[in-house]
Amino acid sequence: MIRLPQYKNLINGKWVDSSSGKVLANTNPADRQDVIGEFPDSNVEDLHVAIEAATKAFESWRLVPAPKRAEILYRAGEILTAKKEELAKDMTREMGKVLKEARGDVQEAIDMTYFIAAEGRRLHGHTTPSELRDKFMMSIRIPLGVVAVITPWNFPMAIPSWKIIPALVTGNTVVFKPAEDTPLSAHNFVSILHEAGLPAGVINLVFGSGEAIGPTLVSHPDVSIVSFTGSTEVGRIINQNAASSFKRVSLEMGGKNGLIVMEDADVDLAVDGAVWGGFGTSGQRCTAASRVIVHESVYDEFLEKFVQRTKSLNVGNGLELQTDMGPCINESQLFKVEKYVQIGKQEGARLMCGGSRLDGGNYDQGFFYAPTIFAEVDRRMRIAREEIFGPVVSVLRARNLEDALEIANDTPYGLSSAIYTHNLNYAFRAMRDLYTGITYVNSSTIGAEVHLPFGGTKQTGNGHREGGPTVIDLFTEWKTIYVDFSGKLQKAQIDE
Ligand code: ADP
Repeated sequence: MIRLPQYKNLINGKWVDSSSGKVLANTNPADRQDVIGEFPDSNVEDLHVAIEAATKAFESWRLVPAPKRAEILYRAGEILTAKKEELAKDMTREMGKVLKEARGDVQEAIDMTYFIAAEGRRLHGHTTPSELRDKFMMSIRIPLGVVAVITPWNFPMAIPSWKIIPALVTGNTVVFKPAEDTPLSAHNFVSILHEAGLPAGVINLVFGSGEAIGPTLVSHPDVSIVSFTGSTEVGRIINQNAASSFKRVSLEMGGKNGLIVMEDADVDLAVDGAVWGGFGTSGQRCTAASRVIVHESVYDEFLEKFVQRTKSLNVGNGLELQTDMGPCINESQLFKVEKYVQIGKQEGARLMCGGSRLDGGNYDQGFFYAPTIFAEVDRRMRIAREEIFGPVVSVLRARNLEDALEIANDTPYGLSSAIYTHNLNYAFRAMRDLYTGITYVNSSTIGAEVHLPFGGTKQTGNGHREGGPTVIDLFTEWKTIYVDFSGKLQKAQIDE
């Protein structure tokens, strides 16, 4: 019998088993016979040891000059670049997204690493003149301490990099709990940071079930901040568990993003955007174009072309070159998609294509679902309001721009939005009035770049923005410093 590869936690600079002695298997969603390896099913004891290591390491890491911290991160960026292809293949194997997208995911981690490592030589504060003589004033940034990083499976390397790299360059230490479904990419990323030379305890990796160990991580008094990306349901639990200690919590959660197609749009381009935004990563992106809102005068033309293109998508194993769309991540996600398709039918939406699991041949080994389009969807239907996180797109009809904007905004979420139009007035109205954290013009709802803020309004987030320069605000505290070199007591607001 072939023994499966065994992976370990990284705690205080050492690869160690969980004290639980238990493991979780990592399987390929395109082929469940393909077991990739076994990862620790950690318990709260492991977590306590990791938090203690991170707390201790913080005392020395915060004193390492930021440009020197950045040098280690640049080295990690070089290793990531050199290993990009193997990292991408590992990712496709454990997560299912097509290889091109997995390469993009690794590239995003590389981009983030180089972009944020440069902050090591910036981390700007402010100076300003004092109202008093012989007094100097400035504000500087200081780290927070131990950062808990909790991530989902849909961007197994990009999302951890958005959190971990900025946390480290600003002088914090990290305890990282990755998603159960994508432990290998987390292992690969942390191994590279370790290899690049991070001191012991600065990054700690603890695998395991979020439900079992997440609450301890979030509520631990020595954890200063929690950075989470995942579902709105889990985000709410995390927020509640963290509330009593007042620690900072950054939540990036669900989306139900609207892509508007106006009457003057380039319909073929809009179809490209709807296919890419709706079915890229099998629709498993928080920015997925899950609602397409089309002006009534081009509705039929758009729908016909959209359905035709969607039917031609090649669904299969993401490692095969001809594949356009991979599987769903796991069985429960597949059941969720099936459930929502039933709901859509019961609600009276018109099923245009897809609507069932794919079976026969290699499909039987994986979690494959046909790309699905519902037409004549009403905005009040559940398929138009709830996040499905699978390859299901709802097409809605709009009478004019006002109607389209209203439909797009009529959702509990506010992550991304898009408008296809050549009308400048329409475009600027949409940029102003779509109440989302991100808006695209003549481009789909997906495709964020690392050097601009990322996040959303309403139930998508709690006001923080990761990515871009704003991520530095998340992982630092402002400290204001007054230096009086007059040699006498001076009183602000009181002295003449
Ligand atoms: P997704 O469906 O995108 O995986 P989830 O919200 O289910 O999103 O999970 C995101 C992350 O949150 C995962 O790493 C998971 O293990 C973790 N998690 C799940 N439940 C909890 C919890 N109660 N506390 C903290 N983390 C949790």
